[in-house]
Amino acid sequence: LAIKDVLCTSTMPTTCGSRILEHFVPPYDATVIEKLHNEGAVLLGKLAMDEFAMGSTSENCAFGTPNNPWRPGYVAGGSSGGSAACVAADQCLASLGSDTGGSIRQPASLCGIVGMKPTYGRVSRYGLVAFASSLDQIGPMTKDVRDCALLMKVISGRDPRDATSSPKPVPDYSAALREGLKGVRVGVPTEYFGAGLDPEVEQVVRGAIAMLADAGAEIIKVSLPHTEYCVAVYYLIAPAEASSNLARYDGVRYGYRDMQAESLLDMYRQSRSAGFGNEVKKRILIGTYALSAGYYDAYYKKASQVRTLIREDFARAFASCDLIASPVTPTPAWRIGEKGDDPLALYLSDILTISANLAGIPGMSVPAGFSSGGLPIGLQLQAAHFNEEILLRAAWNLEQRAGVRGRRPELG
Ligand code: GLN
Repeated sequence: LAIKDVLCTSTMPTTCGSRILEHFVPPYDATVIEKLHNEGAVLLGKLAMDEFAMGSTSENCAFGTPNNPWRPGYVAGGSSGGSAACVAADQCLASLGSDTGGSIRQPASLCGIVGMKPTYGRVSRYGLVAFASSLDQIGPMTKDVRDCALLMKVISGRDPRDATSSPKPVPDYSAALREGLKGVRVGVPTEYFGAGLDPEVEQVVRGAIAMLADAGAEIIKVSLPHTEYCVAVYYLIAPAEASSNLARYDGVRYGYRDMQAESLLDMYRQSRSAGFGNEVKKRILIGTYALSAGYYDAYYKKASQVRTLIREDFARAFASCDLIASPVTPTPAWRIGEKGDDPLALYLSDILTISANLAGIPGMSVPAGFSSGGLPIGLQLQAAHFNEEILLRAAWNLEQRAGVRGRRPELG
């Protein structure tokens, strides 16, 4: 396996795609890395990502941007873009990514692989370099659903070193892969098929939902009325938590230090100015502002209240269905550089994945088909907390029918 460079490995550097950690080798392994080692996994290396997992294209990586193996010059997605590209291009068996607002599911969709963001608390975050601690979760990125189930079994479970990890027993996820979806109710949220959705994406996703129906599922309409607030809420909560988490990179104990500085304050300022890229700086600014005295109630607190409403939307929906099916991203992959001058368009492209992180529920992207131009399109499945098994079962049934499993890009 090859691993997103956001997970601590004591045998190789862990850069988080940032100059500030360019030569950093952690003194310990992340719990998930330890678990992989215990199962005999061989780690091939670490993979490109947006700096500190902030981005949707991996263009914010300080060490180069991965291409989409289906079409060079196109983005592999982000922030786990290197993971998705490497798995899709057959350069490794599978990868682990991290997902704070879609960073596993979105690149998985754009590169035609399987990606799962588990329930918040299902997988230990010990040794995952923190971006937004109330949203971050580690998950598998694999070539098929069976591999995803296998890796989920290995990495899940309670860890005394992460107080937010759940003591719930870990099911045998592979046993969940059973033929047929009889008795399973699939909700289709009206709000996820709105303006801005590429017609080809809609066609492939609706086709995939019809395949779930062929497998025996009952398809019903559901509503997630607060969907339109997800991006705004996320872009307050995530930067606020990031500004706090990233305060530790001060050049003192580890990471890049500016050696020209003449005072301690200058050393902090110059190390952080040279070490962080622009997107990270922007988010630290937004987050620090949102948390400052006098603004906290208007921004962070308000966002947390709307977050509760979003969570309640899902609770209400899951009273009438077992899983929710939708697109992962509004469009297939785009050209590298194309949205560089339009940060809002980039932020909005996460609108369909962010809600699972805000609600803490599991979500998954599974290959469903291709655009007419030959770019992969995934189906997103979401379920109630700790219901990864129903996701895997539905994904496996789709995989049997969609006819795209094993299809790999031709590499020059
Ligand atoms: N694209 C989102 C962001 O830029 C999500 C990233 C992630 O899930 N790590 O923050």
